[in-house]
Amino acid sequence: MRQNLVAGNWKMNLTYPEGLALVEEITRLAGDAGATGPEIVVCPPFPLLHGVGQALPQGGRFHLGAQNCHQKESGAFTGEVSAKVLASVGCEYVILGHSERRQYFGEDDELLSQKLKAALVAGLKPIFCVGESLDTREADETFAFISKQLTDGLFHLSNEEFEQVTIAYEPIWAIGTGRTASSAQAQEVHAFIREQIARAYDAQAALNTTILYGGSANAQNARELFSQPDVDGGLIGGASLKAVDFATIIQSF
Ligand code: PEP
Repeated sequence: MRQNLVAGNWKMNLTYPEGLALVEEITRLAGDAGATGPEIVVCPPFPLLHGVGQALPQGGRFHLGAQNCHQKESGAFTGEVSAKVLASVGCEYVILGHSERRQYFGEDDELLSQKLKAALVAGLKPIFCVGESLDTREADETFAFISKQLTDGLFHLSNEEFEQVTIAYEPIWAIGTGRTASSAQAQEVHAFIREQIARAYDAQAALNTTILYGGSANAQNARELFSQPDVDGGLIGGASLKAVDFATIIQSF
């Protein structure tokens, strides 16, 4: 059966000492969430990965994730970081297809397909993000849009590869805006995503896939969001930078 999971996307925030202080505090507050608690993934900026990974409790529910990777294994790509390098510093997860990468760095489904493959070859578990803009939602095209993102970006994977993937539904209009999707809106899209997985793969794959909600999730609304049958946790931006809030979210199942 699928795992509940909470991932913190620090984005381009926190220095190394600040990152270390944050994980120390999160571990103190949430480290005892018990065997039934969610998997916890911390996704700092690249230079912090190794040190933050070392500072996390080892061998338990805490995991290290990156926010992006390059699609090639190595080579002359100045400034880029490969999935293989990420794995070598202790990463287990990588966020791919975040709307900020799609919007500001022009990442399209074709490129994301390549990045997914590269991540899987390196043994990383992708957290693959999908989500519609406000215009798309208001035009009543959310389902068609999400379906296309899944088909073009993700469903080319084999059954075996797909087993490694976590999906994050992140409506763009809710990211960093303080405007959260209602739990009913989140549940509706999560259930739709699960249906699409069943069509593309099979019913078991649909049941087994962890689907996270992301978009202004916080310590106040996490419990309500996570109570929805198809919401298996969260990809958390702003609130993952505050230890008390992130710990509360971890304890919201
Ligand atoms: C995100 O960017 O993945 C995100 C969910 O951000 P926030 O929680 O700040 O809306």
